[in-house]
Amino acid sequence: TPKPGDGPISMRTSDLTSVTPAERAQLLRRPVLKSGEMIDKVKPIVEQVRQSGDKALLELTAKFDKASLTSTVAFPPYTAESMKVDEEVRKAIDVAYANIRKFHEAQIDKTGLQVETMPGVVCSRFARPIARVGLYVPGGTAILPSTALMLGIPAQVAGCKEIVLATPPRSDGSISPEVMYVAKLVGASAILKAGGAQAVAAMAYGTESCPKVDKIFGPGNQWVTAAKMLVQNDTDALVSIDMPAGPSEVLVIADHTANPAFVAADLLSQAEHGVDSQVVLVAVNLTADHLASIEREVDEQAHALERVDIVRQSVSKSLIVKAPNVEEAIAFSNDYAPEHLILHLENARDKIPLIENAGSVFVGPYTPESCGDYASGTNHTLPTNGYARQFSGVNTQSYQKHITSQEITASGLGKLGPVVATLADCEGLQAHANAVRIRLKAFQ
Ligand code: NAD
Repeated sequence: TPKPGDGPISMRTSDLTSVTPAERAQLLRRPVLKSGEMIDKVKPIVEQVRQSGDKALLELTAKFDKASLTSTVAFPPYTAESMKVDEEVRKAIDVAYANIRKFHEAQIDKTGLQVETMPGVVCSRFARPIARVGLYVPGGTAILPSTALMLGIPAQVAGCKEIVLATPPRSDGSISPEVMYVAKLVGASAILKAGGAQAVAAMAYGTESCPKVDKIFGPGNQWVTAAKMLVQNDTDALVSIDMPAGPSEVLVIADHTANPAFVAADLLSQAEHGVDSQVVLVAVNLTADHLASIEREVDEQAHALERVDIVRQSVSKSLIVKAPNVEEAIAFSNDYAPEHLILHLENARDKIPLIENAGSVFVGPYTPESCGDYASGTNHTLPTNGYARQFSGVNTQSYQKHITSQEITASGLGKLGPVVATLADCEGLQAHANAVRIRLKAFQ
């Protein structure tokens, strides 16, 4: 029996060969994020946690998550009962953990670098872990062990000493056992049972029971994102964040070789995330029949999904962009800077050199985004909203900072010193010049 709102699930279509520059710019835009407005809304919550610590956390968790807790933080060892997961799921988590760990371990800068810039002048750079990190794993009702893996593994392999994992509790006060199991795998040193802006504030400032952290990672809804943006600008908090986050998105480029069912499935796997998800299909010179079969697949597969109502809303805001050739399709994608980019193209791998902006790329017909979302090894916490122009996704180096160092010999200073003294004189910084000249004089 048809339900209200039933009907075709379809996307809008534009053609790159006929759009004006203004229309093209419009196609590249995401729904407006009202970050300023949200920051004003989270301010009182952040302030409440800062002033009243654990007491505020308990009150806010009762209010927003409908959970009445007696304590807000759990420390290891976590009970076996709290980590009890289905055997199949546990095995799947273990495989995902191994792959993600392998890829993130390989990113560790073990040796650092050393360069002699002039004879006797040696500059070096080496990495150190950020000591205390906070990982936000979204969702009170949703089970998101994948996000716990993606945020926790690089922290673990980078060697962070304190790993605080925050997630909103379920109404009975518990955390999903899958997330607890991952928390143990990645060596989380504390579990903060709180969500939203209050969790971010607790990790940024610390409370009686929640350790203060140096950097906060992780996706979340607009309350989480706004709180992260607020605390990173407060010098009292002295905390940084991974990146500004927004609703998840995918851009799929498909040519004549693309399997319509695969393309549709990839578009829908993104569309089911949430009503604000962004889905774009760039169709490279497809025949009308080919495009119609993709659209038919989208409609049919969408109707078979449990989350069809979410998909209906996100797909209705999404677009098909027709491009005359692969070069123009990739140029559009580079301007859009998608979080996820899927290439359903002939010889897809050969097109990678053309890609300038993307969070993560999925190459060829047998590489669904889902694999990167869960278990291939790459990270799924990626820049959205066009931030792939200037941000990388979360990676092991996100949990490290680099320290530079230099050592200069007496003869090195003999050559470099006069250069520095001249530049210091030029800038009028006499004491700087003096620190060099006093040594040069000592040589004579
Ligand atoms: P969430 O954990 O982000 O937010 C839940 C919290 O929001 C609650 O604990 C509450 O404190 C706060 N909140 C809700 N309504 C509020 C209100 N009116 N006032 C103050 N605080 C309020 O979980 P969510 O809401 O389910 O959102 C999850 C988000 O994370 C989605 O946007 C989803 O797309 C995103 N996500 C992204 C990824 C990724 O890797 N990109 C993965 C998973 C989820």
